[in-house]
Amino acid sequence: MRLPKEKPKFAGHFYSMPHFQTPISTKLPRTGTSIFTVMSALATEHGALNLSQGFPEFDVPSELKELVVRAITDGKNQYAPMAGVLALREAVAAQFQKRNGIAYDPAEEITITAGATQAIFTAITALVKENDEVIVFTPAYDCYAPAIELAGGIPVFMRLTGPHYRVDWDEVRKLVTRKTRMIIINTPHNPTGSVLGLADLMELEKIAISSDIIVLSDEVYEHIVFDGEPHASCASRAGLANQSLIVGSFGKSIHATGWKTGYIAGPPSLMAEFRKVHQYNVFVANTPIQHGIADFMNENPDHFAQLSSFYQAKRDLFLQAMKGSRFTFKPAEGGYFQLLNYSNISEQEDVEIAKEWTVKYKIASIPVSVFYQQPLMDHSLRFCFAKNDDTLLAAAEILKSI
Ligand code: PMP
Ligand code: GLN
Repeated sequence: MRLPKEKPKFAGHFYSMPHFQTPISTKLPRTGTSIFTVMSALATEHGALNLSQGFPEFDVPSELKELVVRAITDGKNQYAPMAGVLALREAVAAQFQKRNGIAYDPAEEITITAGATQAIFTAITALVKENDEVIVFTPAYDCYAPAIELAGGIPVFMRLTGPHYRVDWDEVRKLVTRKTRMIIINTPHNPTGSVLGLADLMELEKIAISSDIIVLSDEVYEHIVFDGEPHASCASRAGLANQSLIVGSFGKSIHATGWKTGYIAGPPSLMAEFRKVHQYNVFVANTPIQHGIADFMNENPDHFAQLSSFYQAKRDLFLQAMKGSRFTFKPAEGGYFQLLNYSNISEQEDVEIAKEWTVKYKIASIPVSVFYQQPLMDHSLRFCFAKNDDTLLAAAEILKSI
């Protein structure tokens, strides 16, 4: 920022900062404002039902709120240790042990982060070097590619096709080169609702081990898997876990997206590199929230176990109410998003349709094409079903009328 030649004459005298004369050369030429921000703002402006940005309509458990307030009143308000409040790292390690039989050491192998987005950005910044290739499956959550590009890496996109969005691991093998540094997976998947199974992890493990590739596994919806299926985590296979950084988010698992608290787990060699960047990128996540969540997890060991049935009931309510509509869909296997295909209704591209329907029918969704890096006529919209039953029924009524 250039300062004006003359300083203001009086203290407290306001002057406007001059603007740069030359255009800024952007580091992210293909990036605009996130679609989640755009669609939520449009929904608010037009008073539409907002099933676009993914966040629960219901509140965090009241006991958890009390525990956070207690942490604040007890004076737990200064910096936590850089890796996070130990009690929370221990609670996260206990969850991994219980669910995947793996013993992560809270001292060296788990770090609490300011949400999953920060964990992902920090992991990529710490581990991807100039010209390294990173394999990303599309449709992909929006924060992966910009982080890779800012690190000087090259995203290598592999497109998955609906309605099943399965990964063909032989195709993945063809994309691996000497420059492949990382593969990013996301299960349960946002936006498609697909999940990876054990067979997928076995294939991934072979590829990762034979080519010495780091796996960044975005498992933020780990506790939300439907129809009796277990969540297949990279932590469940020793060989894979040894080369993986696994990301979780309390935003999803305690209905508190606004608290921006998550975690990352991985072997000491990867975690040491992660923490080198974490300490300068955020240093530590918010202290009283960490204490509150640790206490809550210790007092409610079964909280996470009921999330799958809680969200499955919402998915089923929504899809049952959609019967008779002109949309086609395959029920989500996990997470809290449902894709609806509108090919029977319109040929228009999905970004236009999502905006038009927010204004005209007062229902907001996310156009799926934004999760691809190529222009695409996907004709699918993503609806978040982490909403109260009345909202889901009202949304289905609107959609049936289209
Ligand atoms: N990954 C995926 C797949 C997500 O859907 C989200 C947010 N919904 C995140 C990461 C980011 O989570 P957080 O809000 O904890 O940063
Ligand atoms: N992850 C949320 C979603 O997929 C949005 C998070 C955000 O707005 N960045 O809708």
